[in-house]
Amino acid sequence: MYDVVISGAGPAGSKCAEILANAGLKVALLERDTQWRKPCGGAVSSRIFKYYPQLRSLNFNQINAITMYSSDYHQFNYSWKGIKENAINVDRLIFDNLIRNVAVDAGAQLFDKTLSYDFIYKNQRKVGIKAKSGSSKREFLGKILIIADGMSSKLAMKSGIRRKWKINEIGLVKCAILKGENLIDKDSISVFFQPFKAYAWIFPLTNNQFNIGIGTWQEENLKHNISDLFSKFIKEPTIRKILYKNKFKTIWKSAYPIPAIGILEKSLYDQNIMLIGDAAGFVSPISGEGVHPSIVSGKAAAETSIKALEEENISRKTLNMYKTHPNIKKIRRNFKLKLSLVDFFFENRGKNISNMFHVAEEDELFREEVIGMFLFNKVPSKDFLSKIKSFK
Ligand SMILES: Cc1cc2nc3c(=O)[nH]c(=O)nc-3n(C[C@H](O)[C@H](O)[C@H](O)COP(=O)(O)OP(=O)(O)OC[C@H]3O[C@@H](n4cnc5c(N)ncnc54)[C@H](O)[C@@H]3O)c2cc1C
Repeated sequence: MYDVVISGAGPAGSKCAEILANAGLKVALLERDTQWRKPCGGAVSSRIFKYYPQLRSLNFNQINAITMYSSDYHQFNYSWKGIKENAINVDRLIFDNLIRNVAVDAGAQLFDKTLSYDFIYKNQRKVGIKAKSGSSKREFLGKILIIADGMSSKLAMKSGIRRKWKINEIGLVKCAILKGENLIDKDSISVFFQPFKAYAWIFPLTNNQFNIGIGTWQEENLKHNISDLFSKFIKEPTIRKILYKNKFKTIWKSAYPIPAIGILEKSLYDQNIMLIGDAAGFVSPISGEGVHPSIVSGKAAAETSIKALEEENISRKTLNMYKTHPNIKKIRRNFKLKLSLVDFFFENRGKNISNMFHVAEEDELFREEVIGMFLFNKVPSKDFLSKIKSFK
């Protein structure tokens, strides 16, 4: 019998497992496949170092500047070189295995090639997770069960805590890691807002490798084919200039959904179960940043579990501590506000984004707010919108 069984060893599950194991608890961390590369841009702000200081000394590509393009290709450049700590761009295959190992070193038991598919019930209570490992079946009994297996989580729905996402509640994204000679500034990431609810990116990984992708969300998911958008984006003249060569070797490519409406507040926990990371919608509705919020949710769920197990009370009422954890409350408020801004930004074919960049060029404080919002999940001030609206 485990104290905690976690389904999914992505950023959310691994951080959760590490904290629980460090507290001396017996933890099973079930992972479908440690050789699967999570489709992701891999851009991670410096806030990650608070949770993984060991990443500072590793060889991930350091980022200290961003160029954002509005749909009319108006450019906004910002560099934080020497002012703030660098962000990093990571290959998720390497990053995820690294942070899994941190959890294993702390004492968590990682079960690779182990696909969770249902709950184990006793007296109508969920007392564990059933999993398949090749052709054999295994059962993992646990006092607390944590669902961290991403946005397509079957267990999240089977738990009855969360319903299936609707098509207008998700984003659809296609991305690739390409290799070849290019003119991309290795220290800088680029984001390209589209004239509809979508944006594309180029994130450098090494001198000759970069992550490139595009995603739509809400009603736009139904209007576009994501593979067509990807092919079109890569052929645009501005992108061709940046990429410079026509031929690139595809190291990897994939298409995947992403939660786009923030956290489903009523879908976070039940008696002895918590949903964390993408499984619960911990992705910023504007920037699509999900690695950091997922880690924060994993930490909050771990702290809640430790307290609940200490008190020998794993009831729904006790696990409410997860939802009301100060960091979760902060993210919930932040995401709600961001969600309310999405329509405004993309009005008139993305005109407000273009206006925002114009204001940012003139107003230093406003510029910091734009960066804070897109890169550091900060909430903009009350007069942020009025400044954009009054731009002529
Ligand atoms: C294309 C794309 C680009 C993105 N770009 C960025 C970015 O640049 N920066 C950023 O911060 N965020 C980005 N995100 C969001 C980010 O990838 C996620 O928010 C983050 O990975 C969520 O972490 P997680 O641990 O909750 O879930 P995941 O990372 O999805 O991890 C879930 C884990 O569970 C495993 N699993 C799944 N099903 C099962 C099962 N049945 N049994 C056992 N294991 C299972 C999976 O193999 C995986 O390892 C992007 C997302 C997408 C789709």
